[in-house]
Amino acid sequence: MLFILGCCLILTLGYVPDPTPSNTERKIVGTKITITAKEDDEIHRLGSFVEEVTIKKGDTFITLLRRLNINDALLIKFLSTKETHKRLKLKAGNSVRVHITPQGKLNKLLMFSRNGRAMEVVPNDRGFEIRPVLLKRRLLFGSGTIQSSLYKALENNGIADELASEMADILASEIDFNRDIRSGARFSIIYSANFSDNTYISSGRIHALEFTNNGQEYRAYLFEDEDTKRSGYYTENGENIKNAFLRSPLKFSRVTSGFSKRRLHPVLKKWRAHKGIDYGAATGTPIMAVSKGTIRYIGSKGAYGRFIEIRHQNGVSTRYAHLSRYAKKLKKGSKVEQGQIIGYVGKSGMATGPHLHYEFLVNGRQVDPSKAVTPPGPPIRADRKNEFNLKTASAKNLLARLGASPTN
Ligand SMILES: [Zn+2]
Repeated sequence: MLFILGCCLILTLGYVPDPTPSNTERKIVGTKITITAKEDDEIHRLGSFVEEVTIKKGDTFITLLRRLNINDALLIKFLSTKETHKRLKLKAGNSVRVHITPQGKLNKLLMFSRNGRAMEVVPNDRGFEIRPVLLKRRLLFGSGTIQSSLYKALENNGIADELASEMADILASEIDFNRDIRSGARFSIIYSANFSDNTYISSGRIHALEFTNNGQEYRAYLFEDEDTKRSGYYTENGENIKNAFLRSPLKFSRVTSGFSKRRLHPVLKKWRAHKGIDYGAATGTPIMAVSKGTIRYIGSKGAYGRFIEIRHQNGVSTRYAHLSRYAKKLKKGSKVEQGQIIGYVGKSGMATGPHLHYEFLVNGRQVDPSKAVTPPGPPIRADRKNEFNLKTASAKNLLARLGASPTN
């Protein structure tokens, strides 16, 4: 049943389904999250065995091949060349997967390149060659329960943590993932993933998401406007899930000093109002524009150090101070989008350590951003509503089913 739904979904969202898969397999990843993947029939067709080893610190291709019981002098010679070392990276923790014939000959070796691309080493008439892996995109779905934090839940279960980061992004204006997540929070996701010969390589975008936390339920659906090529996440009614302002300019951070009328200034040692919020974060942590706007000021500004001010709509502007550096190509008058990286955390100006000092101004006066009432982002346009309803219908059904099925 799940498989049929998955197939409908692929068709409805406009993806090319895979050529008639024979059956489905419920694959348990870790204990908390289950994903459904199609059975790997390629292996049987090629008549080869698949083995996988994890690269250890200090490994060479020779030690790796020895662990894989491959004794092929030509292959060892090929992998030992300078040219190969330039293209393939033996990074500890990454895995290497090989397809071997029953006679011990290599059909294929899969691993990552220096720049993180999936590469394969395959035999040819002259010996071997390295080429990029052709990836196929598929939709996967799954659900799970969080014990401590979402980040930890995925990490502990060996799931790509970019999925956690993407979930946090999508719900950034609803939930602060550093503070608000309760144990027992549940999620269901439909996401795309990249496969090579039925082998999972990497995750892509989340297409639909349901998140239940502390009794509150959130659902988000990805929709791309074909005219503008811009995509966003929306509720099932077509309202923008994102507020026009993010709750925090940093993705994962902690507030070290809140908005207050009076506090002891750590550098001046005097009582002063703190008309902003300080976020403790390591130097170099990316800072995002909390909303769409125009750069009004970029440059050094006294105690603020390296400083950016952005003008948004409705008399709102935001300020970011003590930066270590700015994002490339940004200048006064540049347009920025919500979530765009504008600079990086530092301790320039008057600061005791690396942190972001963030201010939220309404008509030129600093206010507490957590108390400011900000508008939602633009909804699905009226003339796109039918298309949106059609595209999200099966995702909606699938989320409902995933939400109803018990997880551990
Ligand atoms: Zn501050």
